[in-house]
Amino acid sequence: MTLVAKPSRRRGRAAVPKVGFVSLGCPKALVDSERILTQLRAEGYEVAGDYGGADLVVVNTCGFIDEAVQESLDAIGEALAENGKVIVTGCLGARRGSGGGTLVGEVHPKVLAVTGPHAAGEVMAHVHAHLPRPHDPFTDLVPAGGVKLTPRHYAYLKISEGCNHRCTFCIIPSLRGDLVSRPIGEVMREAEALVKAGVKELLVVSQDTSAYGADLRYRTGFVGGRPVRTRMTELVRELARLGAWVRLHYVYPYRHVDEVLPLMAEGSVLPYLDVPFQHSHPRILKLMKRPASGETNIERIRAWRSICPQLTIRSTFIAGFPGETEAEFEHLLDFLREAELDRVGCFAYSPVEGAAANALPGALSGEVREARRARFMALQAAISARRLQRRVGTTTTVIVDAIEHDRQARAWRAAARSAGEAPEIDGVVYVALDGEAQARALAPGSELTVRIVRADEHDLFALAQEPAAPPRR
Ligand code: SF4
Repeated sequence: MTLVAKPSRRRGRAAVPKVGFVSLGCPKALVDSERILTQLRAEGYEVAGDYGGADLVVVNTCGFIDEAVQESLDAIGEALAENGKVIVTGCLGARRGSGGGTLVGEVHPKVLAVTGPHAAGEVMAHVHAHLPRPHDPFTDLVPAGGVKLTPRHYAYLKISEGCNHRCTFCIIPSLRGDLVSRPIGEVMREAEALVKAGVKELLVVSQDTSAYGADLRYRTGFVGGRPVRTRMTELVRELARLGAWVRLHYVYPYRHVDEVLPLMAEGSVLPYLDVPFQHSHPRILKLMKRPASGETNIERIRAWRSICPQLTIRSTFIAGFPGETEAEFEHLLDFLREAELDRVGCFAYSPVEGAAANALPGALSGEVREARRARFMALQAAISARRLQRRVGTTTTVIVDAIEHDRQARAWRAAARSAGEAPEIDGVVYVALDGEAQARALAPGSELTVRIVRADEHDLFALAQEPAAPPRR
């Protein structure tokens, strides 16, 4: 969960209608926030930096796990207390309460309106009703790529909404509905606008990127007048033409994913796959109702690496799923040892209200779930450290995210990422800089060629070689 924008408690109002915005949740929710903010700015609203300066506050919520629900409810309560006029949107907005209305409406009856996720139009209608749109908006004040909550040099590109799967631990389909893919022409127009606006890295997100276009029967759309099928491989090929880094998230290990590996091997898109495996044991995967078979995953990983040896694989897992035996957990640890994944996250299973898995027999105690997660992470830490150690001595291109200054050590460094690190979720490549002059010559989004000199289990440490070549166009 990311809190990307939260007004402070300062006071003071201006004449132009101002909307405060609190954005919680995953990258998909972040994209929804960006759409609403873009629309607000396009219509002439201003975005307030504090509750007191806002005429109204929109809170985009997360409803994924109980902790996120509580954080969202608290954020709504704070916005009501500090401002009083609050519109709620996002996943939590879709949750039903015990009385049949929305959960949000039951907990906070003073909110002006509640919508579910992916509802920019509905949110705008509520904003218009409670804070009439200003006359004669200056639409040219909106940047070409829309309003972004991410740094200027990278952006999330949401290609679809919803999901056709019914994983038993997940309530996203009941919150966001079945898969709805965006037309390929529309996705490409947005991607082009982002790159024109200075974005150097496009992060493709959805609930299931490999299923892109399945709901449209992979129908042919048009990109710049050319017919192109609405399908993951074709989309990735089109994105590769833009010259920016393209990073794929939430890819399931279906057979057709093999088609994008040659594009990674030839350098058209980043050799990086975020594949949420969740478990390895066939019985647990069946109980989870996970898409794609667990039995062939190791073979699939081997095949991918044989096509693209520089591939970074990131994944997430759940330890302590209901009914998971010690032997099945050991199977998962064996899978980890064999798969040697580069970047891995693991959650101890946590029941989510409304999830089918809650009814499964054999729920494990919190201690067992947490102990298994800790064993899993200890093993993976050693594997990650080994994988990163292999990169010591190599030369690579990085994009700078931030310049940092250690006052005590009087040292400057750049926090950067290579193809192997996605923002927010993976480690960082720390590049030692040769004093303030070099630091001032860099800015977030600068590219550098660096030599990796050290690694720990999470991050890499490097020395700058020279500015990298400009990105491919
Ligand atoms: S694939 Fe499974 S975990 Fe992912 S959104 Fe769909 S139902 Fe949820």
